[in-house]
Amino acid sequence: LPPSERLEQELFSGSNTGINFEKYDDIPVEATGSNCPPHIESFSDVDMGEIIMGNIELTRYTRPTPVQKHAIPIIKEKRDLMACAQTGSGKTAAFLLPILSQIYADGPGDALRAMKENGRYGRRKQYPISLVLAPTRELAVQIYEEARKFAYRSRVRPCVVYGGADIGQQIRDLERGCHLLVATPGRLVDMMERGKIGLDFCKYLVLDEADRMLDMGFEPQIRRIVEQDTMPPKGVRHTMMFSATFPKEIQMLARDFLDEYIFLAVGRVGSTSENITQKVVWVEEPDKRSFLLDLLNATGKDSLTLVFVETKKGADALEDFLYHEGYACTSIHGDRSQRDREEALHQFRSGKSPILVATAVAARGLDISNVKHVINFDLPSDIEEYVHRIGRTGRVGNLGLATSFFNERNINITKDLLDLLVEAKQEVPSWLENMAYEQHHKGGGSQVCIQSIERQCKSLELIKHHFLLPFIGGGYGGFYNSDGYGGNYNSQGVDWWGN
Ligand code: ADP
Ligand code: MG
Repeated sequence: LPPSERLEQELFSGSNTGINFEKYDDIPVEATGSNCPPHIESFSDVDMGEIIMGNIELTRYTRPTPVQKHAIPIIKEKRDLMACAQTGSGKTAAFLLPILSQIYADGPGDALRAMKENGRYGRRKQYPISLVLAPTRELAVQIYEEARKFAYRSRVRPCVVYGGADIGQQIRDLERGCHLLVATPGRLVDMMERGKIGLDFCKYLVLDEADRMLDMGFEPQIRRIVEQDTMPPKGVRHTMMFSATFPKEIQMLARDFLDEYIFLAVGRVGSTSENITQKVVWVEEPDKRSFLLDLLNATGKDSLTLVFVETKKGADALEDFLYHEGYACTSIHGDRSQRDREEALHQFRSGKSPILVATAVAARGLDISNVKHVINFDLPSDIEEYVHRIGRTGRVGNLGLATSFFNERNINITKDLLDLLVEAKQEVPSWLENMAYEQHHKGGGSQVCIQSIERQCKSLELIKHHFLLPFIGGGYGGFYNSDGYGGNYNSQGVDWWGN
C-alpha cells in the first residue's frame, strides 16, 4: 500500500531511548532441538521482505535483541518453538516479524476463499491466518499495536478482542477484515461461539506469556480453542509458545501443542536479569508508608515508579495516602472498570502520574517501558510472581531498580528469594542469609532470627539515616553507584543496623 504520513505519525512516533544493548548482548542464549537453524546477528541476515524491513526501520530497531536473533530464523524455517525469555526481552517482535513476513509472502490462501463463500450468507465470519493468545487486555492491546506497526503498508489487517469491553464494537471491527487476531482466551471463545471467528485456516498460533495464562486459570479455554474446535492440528499449523518461566504445567502444554520443537532459553530460565538491581529491606508493616515516602523522595521526579500491593483495598488506601501527601499517583486493580484502568495507565505512561499503585493481577503483562523503580510494598508469596513484577523494570537492556519490603509475613519466600538474588549476582542482606540458614537447619525456626533482626532495627530512624541518606543526596543515579544501598555503610563506623 502507498505510504501515509498520518498513519506513520500515529504508529511510529513513540521512541525507544536509553537502550543499553552492550549489557543486554551478554545474556546467554541456549537453543536445543534437532536441526536448529543458526541465529542471525542483524535483521538483514534473513530475508523478511521489503514491507517488514521498511517497518523495522520506521520503529528504529537497529539490531535484534537476543531472543529475536534466535527466534526469527527458527520461526522463518517453520519450526515450532518454546521460548523462555524474561519480560522486556523483545518477544513480541520476535514472533510478529517472521509470522507477518510469511503471511506477506504466502498471501491469504484458503482463508480468503472461505470468508468469501461464507460471506454470501449474512454477516461475514472471519478466518484469521494467525492467532496470538495473551493473558490480559493490556497485553493484547500492546501486541496489537506492535502488529499494526509491522503491518503498515501491507494488506494484512490486525484485530484485537478482549473481555471487559463492548463486544458489539469488537465484532464490527472484526467484520472489516481480520488476518491476524490478538485475543484473550475468554473473549475469543465467546467470539467463536457467536460464529464470528473460525480458526480453520489458522496457520500460525502464538501463546504469549503462557505461564501467566495458566496462572490466571485459562487452561480450559486455551484447550477449547486449540484442541476442541476447528484449528488445524499440530504439525499442520505452526505453533510458538513464549513464557517467562517453565514450570511443569507449561511443559505439559508444550508437549501437547508443539511438534518437534526447538527450546530456546534466554538468560537463565526462571531467573531475573542482572540489569535489575534488586534490593530487599526489612520493613515492619507500620513503617511501610514512611519508608515508601523516603524511597519516592529519593527517586527522580520524572522517573516512573510502580508500587505493588497485595489487595484491592490496600491499593485504594495507599493511593489515597500518597495523594494526601501530595504525590501525583494513580492506581489499577481488578475492581476498576476497563475505562478507568486505561485512563490510569495513560496517566502513568505519560508521566502525569509517575507513581502507579497496582495489584499483581491488574498489572500482568503491562509494557511500561521506562519504569525506573518497582517497589514491592507487599511481597508476593511465590517467587515466580516476584520475577514477573520486577521484570517491569530494566526492560530491553535498560537499567532498573526493584526494592522489596520484607518482614515476618514474607518468611515463606525467604529461600527462593535468596537463591534468586545470588543467581542474579545481587547483594544479599546478611539477615536474609541468616534467616534462610536457620530455616534450613532448624526446620522453620526463624523466630530466633526475627527477634535478632528486631533487636538490630532499634529504630526506623536509624535505618533511614544509614540506609537512605547516601542516595537521597546523589539522586536517582546514586542507587546504582553507592555501595551503601542494602549493604554496609561504614563511613561512620556502624553498619546500617547500627552495629
Ligand atoms: P517482552 O514481550 O519480551 O516483555 P516486548 O516485546 O514488549 O518484550 O519489548 C519490550 C520493549 O522493547 C518494547 O517497548 C519494544 O518496542 C522494545 N524493543 C523490542 N525489540 C527491540 C529492538 N530490537 N530494538 C529496540 N527496541 C526493541
Ligand atoms: Mg511480551
